[in-house]
Amino acid sequence: MEGKKRLVVLGGGESGVGTAILAKQKGYEVFVSDKGPIKPKYKRVLLNHEIDWEDETHTEEKILNASVVMKSPGIPDKVVLVQKIRAMHIPIVSEIEFAAQYANATIVGITGSNGKTTTTMLTYHLLKDGGLHVGMAGNIGDSFAQMVAEQNYEDYVLEISSFQLDDIETFKPHIAVITNITPDHLDRYNYQFEKYIEAKFRITKNQTQEDFLIYDADDEVITEWLEKNKVKAKLLPFSITKKVEEGAYLEDNTIITNIDNSIFTMSTDTLKLEGKHNVKNAMAASTVAQLLKIRKQTIRESFETFQGVEHRLEKVLKIQNVQYINDSKATNVNSTFYALDSVSTQMVWIVGGVDKGNDYTSLLPLVREKIKAIICLGIDNSKIIDVFGAVTDELVEAGSMIEAVREAYRMAEPGDTVMLSPACASFDLFENYEDRGRQFKEAVRKL
Ligand code: ADP
Repeated sequence: MEGKKRLVVLGGGESGVGTAILAKQKGYEVFVSDKGPIKPKYKRVLLNHEIDWEDETHTEEKILNASVVMKSPGIPDKVVLVQKIRAMHIPIVSEIEFAAQYANATIVGITGSNGKTTTTMLTYHLLKDGGLHVGMAGNIGDSFAQMVAEQNYEDYVLEISSFQLDDIETFKPHIAVITNITPDHLDRYNYQFEKYIEAKFRITKNQTQEDFLIYDADDEVITEWLEKNKVKAKLLPFSITKKVEEGAYLEDNTIITNIDNSIFTMSTDTLKLEGKHNVKNAMAASTVAQLLKIRKQTIRESFETFQGVEHRLEKVLKIQNVQYINDSKATNVNSTFYALDSVSTQMVWIVGGVDKGNDYTSLLPLVREKIKAIICLGIDNSKIIDVFGAVTDELVEAGSMIEAVREAYRMAEPGDTVMLSPACASFDLFENYEDRGRQFKEAVRKL
């Protein structure tokens, strides 16, 4: 008799451990291997589920005898062990794909360079308020596979990163959303933007005529790709600049969504979120809600109670009529563009961190118009100084968040906004963007 199928999981984080649990439940012999340390909380979960694991090493004999390997999205393809697995023709599966085959549910998959988390949370909020038995998982935090193993949701809203799409072969969401595509993570794609674009569009590769692809029709990267490539799913664009036949658009301050001649309208004033980008996110989310037949009045009411997501244009405090905003999640130029665009007052701008090959020129008009002072908060600020030094009245460097916030307090005048929107990753001075955002809020509260 054929033995049990052996699934080896590379990477003992959220998605790896989740996949291990689901695989074990489905009768696989499971082994988890992590080159680094596995967090104690995950070790406990593995122990509770009687799943075999190792960390701080990869034992090749225990890995290369797998019938299938699940690779965590954080592990790049160029890693030697991954190459060996491929050379031996052992199938590599991603968590999303592995879990989807066991989820008897409607799947909404949301990807894009910016706005994934906001759109995912907003969509989940609308569907939940609409009475659906819905789960939210993926890149946003909780493992999709573990949710499939332990819950029985009828609908899932999944935030999906390009890394998570890299290894999919058969996965298809019923409703796919691409919020936008701008250069990001190019280090993982040999610095080829084309490859990153292809990864994002993998979300629609297995969709059929019964499925839907919702996308930003104002995004030229997306529209050019769609002109050159065939997509089977029904296309539902959204736009804030032009009317679309089917999909969502803006007329004055009204969002109009037309799906199969069913019209939904909502004033942008209903939104608690600021900025054009959030109008776009709202259009994408309301299109999903309409496709899933949520009542229109419920959608409107639900938008009114969505307060936004921490570290994304989060209003912290107003001190002496200066508004402090935490946009620590802005780790690339495009998201900072929308942050600066969303504020109408003069700003003191805290920017900098680990540069991911940024091209800051698109920010120059906004900086000339609205930025009275810049505070650089990174170890190497030379590029920011080069680009913006000549176009702003004051530019200083700060060595810590406390120093940056104190400088901002000194420079801002009543009516101004202090904006932390770094356009860079946070790893030089902080643990992650959450740590950076929290330190900012703490420093503001201590002023
Ligand atoms: P992601 O999960 O894709 O990183 P988030 O919703 O966490 O996206 O937002 C990341 C950053 O991008 C935040 O600074 C946010 O204000 C900004 N942002 C959100 N939605 C959009 C959008 N549609 N276009 C551009 N920037 C956006």
